[in-house]
Amino acid sequence: MRGFHDVLPPQSERFHRIERNLCTVLDSYNYVEIRTPIAERAELFARSLGEATDIVEKEMYTFEDRDGTMLTLRPECTASVVRAAIEGGLAGRDRVAKLYYLGPMFRRERPQKGRLRQFHQIGVEVLGREDALADAEVVALLMDCLAAAGLRDVKLLLNSLGDATCRPGYRTALEAFGRAHEAELCETCKLRLERNPLRLLDCKEESCRALMVDAPRLREHLCDECRTHFNDVERLLTAAGIEFTVDPTLVRGLDYYVRTAFEVIAPGLGAQNAVGGGGRYDGLVAALGGAPIGGVGFAIGLERLLMSAGSTGEDATPEMCVIPLTEAAAASALQLARALRGAGARCELETAGRSVKSAMRRADKLGVRFALLIGDAEIEAGRATVRDMQRQADHPLAIGFDVDGLTTAAAIRALGEGEARGC
Ligand SMILES: [Zn+2]
Ligand SMILES: [Zn+2]
Repeated sequence: MRGFHDVLPPQSERFHRIERNLCTVLDSYNYVEIRTPIAERAELFARSLGEATDIVEKEMYTFEDRDGTMLTLRPECTASVVRAAIEGGLAGRDRVAKLYYLGPMFRRERPQKGRLRQFHQIGVEVLGREDALADAEVVALLMDCLAAAGLRDVKLLLNSLGDATCRPGYRTALEAFGRAHEAELCETCKLRLERNPLRLLDCKEESCRALMVDAPRLREHLCDECRTHFNDVERLLTAAGIEFTVDPTLVRGLDYYVRTAFEVIAPGLGAQNAVGGGGRYDGLVAALGGAPIGGVGFAIGLERLLMSAGSTGEDATPEMCVIPLTEAAAASALQLARALRGAGARCELETAGRSVKSAMRRADKLGVRFALLIGDAEIEAGRATVRDMQRQADHPLAIGFDVDGLTTAAAIRALGEGEARGC
């Protein structure tokens, strides 16, 4: 199905590994996971993202449930997390929630490189913090996550979108600029001029981009509080050694952002070069029925992260393979494999009764370091033969399969090392 992909091995393994790496970073920042449903009531997204956004206008999968409720497959997760935090009592005036999520999102866009209709995001939301330090820490976390995924040569873009005090004045100035140059705008931007002039700034058309170079800058319209906040974020990032570029055209396309907005672009992605981004959304919690508290977060696109980071680390191969050479050896083989797995070894268990030759071919194909053979002689001795596939060395009846897994796994690995030392 267009834009809906299976994630097959080894790609699924790479997904899993990157998720694990990122979760380690998230743990170190003391975030906890939240899991929200994939479907939400449709009005949640219209209320949070804004009626006049591309997502709400044309990209959502919305359908009527049998009882007449309109449901939407989540196009992003911030609205869901905020809703859940309010309903679950996680967000309030006197508490801070630091949440991360991970899972599929759905947008009916034209599929292209780096853009699927079902795609995966990992993201964070901090609810209950209004200070610039929270913004800087969230940006630092994003950069640390990307580094943990093995991403290099990324570029961090930063902007301030102002707030309810100063943005309306800027909006008016931008609209006036747009009107004065209406004939030069693309058709989409002519509509944007009516509905959401801020979106003029992130039009991808070359002619519009050229025109917007001379457009009024939001930076020059910021109120004192927004300017102070933005200066603080810049100062903290600089102090943390995080490089960034202020990009006055960065508007992120969603209505709920205020003040800080940021995006990271990565090499090797073509036109869809943003690998992650986010911003501050003070007012969203209150708009969805919660307390008047601030919020800031980001989302990373996992498919794009994988495309840009390439393969990080080795694809999974089992370390050991237990091979019962006869039907009678099956029970002992199962026992041994379970003991080794319990000791943390990635261990394959082969079909019983194959010839040694075909079993070895199999072990070779699996890429295991150690093949553990159990035939009649081994059953009788209560010990398995270890074949070191890498060094082509056999250790007949080397390990017992009725001792504990840790001892056995250690004994097997010691055999491999012993060869290396030449003893
Ligand atoms: Zn345009
Ligand atoms: Zn302001």
